Amino acid sequence: DQRVVQSERTEEDTGEANLRPAGLDEFVGQQELRSNLSVFIEAARRRGEALDHVLFFGPPGLGKTTLAQIVARELGVGFRHTSGPVIAKPGDLAAILTNLQPRDVLFIDEIHRLTPQVEEILYPAMEDFQLDLIIGEGPAARSVRIDLPPFTLVGATTRSGLITTPLRERFGIPLRLQFYQPDELKLIVARGARVLGIEMSADGAMEVARRSRGTPRVAGRLLRRVRDFAAVADNALIDQGVADNALKRLQVDERGLDSMDRRYLRCLAENYGGGPVGVETLAAALSEQRDVPEEVIEPYLIQQGLLQRTPRGRMLTSQGFSYLGLKPTPRVAA
Ligand code: ADP
Repeated sequence: DQRVVQSERTEEDTGEANLRPAGLDEFVGQQELRSNLSVFIEAARRRGEALDHVLFFGPPGLGKTTLAQIVARELGVGFRHTSGPVIAKPGDLAAILTNLQPRDVLFIDEIHRLTPQVEEILYPAMEDFQLDLIIGEGPAARSVRIDLPPFTLVGATTRSGLITTPLRERFGIPLRLQFYQPDELKLIVARGARVLGIEMSADGAMEVARRSRGTPRVAGRLLRRVRDFAAVADNALIDQGVADNALKRLQVDERGLDSMDRRYLRCLAENYGGGPVGVETLAAALSEQRDVPEEVIEPYLIQQGLLQRTPRGRMLTSQGFSYLGLKPTPRVAA
């Protein structure tokens, strides 16, 4: 079942391409990252060289792909987009690399999912713009070296810990994206409404922003859903009341939590007295795979201060209890 607040890209997000800001100055938020990046881009342009390799890390939907495209555009070079799981064999990567023009940007999304064999040939490509390929098999095998044009690799990953140290160390410019503040998301929602031709008041935009989990992708999706509710109800203008109504119907509450989040928190409170409890136990109680709570539910609950990961397991915070309208369970010392 798909959640309206999910931050991973889904089928329905194919329409988000037209919401992408085209330049660094249209890109909202990530102030520090943006100002550093613009210096590096400007310096590379002046030298007429390829920009150093860039690694973006941060949760899904925060703008990594968008920034990669902006980097290519600001450099005035070509952009190639691929992803870790798509590059199955060293030959697949070799085909992409040998087709690049000098100074092009190659974007590899989910770069932590490259196979070790592919990673191995990426190292000399990144460092010396050289490909070492083995051609043939057995005693007839020989290695060939191919010179590549200088290029910029832009990698994206959801957590820096997922990527191997030798790969991470080959990126000269590692940049971490942060969750957005409501006032930043408000600008993103208002801009999205303009692009989509939706009439929206400032408080309407703020209402969607507050409930978007710090994530532009979620903001864009909620905006499109709210528009649907407004259209069916014949509301020409989306103000706070219209937005609030639609989001309630979508079961997205004041803080952006949906029914899955609430089920998780309630299970932890009611079945396990607020924890600590192991994530496997929780996943089983919710009839979910282990990685669902870990990757999809918990990050936002932790960021909201409702949940803690401890060495002994998951624990509801006192904020988590009061969110559910419950009193914290007194803990007996072991
Ligand atoms: P990621 O690659 O990190 O998963 P994307 O770059 O695909 O995220 O962004 C998801 C959506 O959010 C896109 O529609 C994009 O235009 C929008 N978006 C992301 N960051 C911003 C931003 N800072 N300003 C405006 N829109 C943004």
